[in-house]
Amino acid sequence: MGISRRGFLGSVSAGAAATSLAAQNTRGRSAPEKRAGQGKIKITDLRCAIIGRNPVVRIVTDQGISGYGQAESAKPYLKPMVLFYKQYLIGEDPTDVARVMLKIRRMGAFKPWGSAVSAIEIALWDIAGQAAGLPVYKLLGGKIRDRVRIYNGGVRFPMTGQTPQDYAENMQKMKEAKEGFTLIKQAVGFHNPAMMRSMQNGWYDEPRSGPPHSDRGLLTQRGLEHIIACVEAMKKVLGDEIGLALDCGPGWMVKDAITFARALEPYHITWLEDTLTGDYAPYPNAQLFKELTQSTSLNIHTGEEIYLRENFKDLIEQQAVNVIGPDPEDVGGIAELKWIAEYADLHGILVAPHGIFDGLIGLAAHVHMAAALPQNYIGFEYPIGQPDWWYDIVEGLPNPIAKKGFVDVWDTPGLGVTFNVNAAKAHLNEDDRGFFD
Ligand SMILES: [Mg+2]
Repeated sequence: MGISRRGFLGSVSAGAAATSLAAQNTRGRSAPEKRAGQGKIKITDLRCAIIGRNPVVRIVTDQGISGYGQAESAKPYLKPMVLFYKQYLIGEDPTDVARVMLKIRRMGAFKPWGSAVSAIEIALWDIAGQAAGLPVYKLLGGKIRDRVRIYNGGVRFPMTGQTPQDYAENMQKMKEAKEGFTLIKQAVGFHNPAMMRSMQNGWYDEPRSGPPHSDRGLLTQRGLEHIIACVEAMKKVLGDEIGLALDCGPGWMVKDAITFARALEPYHITWLEDTLTGDYAPYPNAQLFKELTQSTSLNIHTGEEIYLRENFKDLIEQQAVNVIGPDPEDVGGIAELKWIAEYADLHGILVAPHGIFDGLIGLAAHVHMAAALPQNYIGFEYPIGQPDWWYDIVEGLPNPIAKKGFVDVWDTPGLGVTFNVNAAKAHLNEDDRGFFD
């Protein structure tokens, strides 16, 4: 299992603040001295276990350090894809993260096929941080902020129905959630099949079965007005205290999206996400987004499915959207996302990373990344551990994790989280038994 990352901060008194962090970490963990006489660190194994529904990646080295990464819980099928990259990693120095990534980054694609590469990238940073005795945010350039804003996409309560009143009552519960969110995202329109299918004739097509969010088409007056009424009811609950963002699509026609956006302009909606394309659509269609973006004062958002900086080029350079939402577990990792966020910032575009299914290792990756993102950062989508036992098998997270809608950035080396191996082993599948050995 390598070196425990627990208790490091507890061993450092407040008076030690003047001492450099690296010196503290070197004293707290012996990895750097231990490595000094051993030369280059090498990757000896790449493993993947499906824990709950989250694929977890473990990169093992010849010097007792392991790094962990995680992929979305929506991808329990990912193990063979992760292991495909093993042939390219063995023998490489994991602390040369960029050089290792050059070997594998071209063999990925839009969601879900960029997630194995992304989880590996995050595990490499975990190793690089531990080897240096530094938290990952330091390796990404250092922190801009001591606490990072989160937004609610995953803390949910059962719906009682599909009327505006039902949405208002449900929003009241999210407003009162213990995490103290300052920004809440709600699914509406084609991103919310229950809302759309609760009406007769909400749009000019039949409901589709198949992959998620497969409905698409021209809205009827009834459909559009019902969605707007639900949004108005939710916004009345939140007032000007808490922001409301809307995950809308994909599936909207451009003019419907423009009419919808303009109707909501008085409500100061924080962003409209994935109206036209997005989610799992492997084509961002910058030209259509630009027409929508130029037609409203609301912020238009997309990008959770996009893999690599190259595929954000059109959206950013054409200023086709106002907010991008890459997911570090799909875009190619945390340094990849930071690069994109910096480029977006040069173009006046904001960033709100997607993360609802990213799990608790993913949460740690988000925190380190968000600490180092430029000032166009809004907040990341807060991943929750599902099932609940995830909170018992991961160590190193703050308790409570979220306070008043923020997470305090921690200073332990690497991602600063690891597994309670004994507790975690109880949740391993039979064919993953050797994952922690
Ligand atoms: Mg979305």
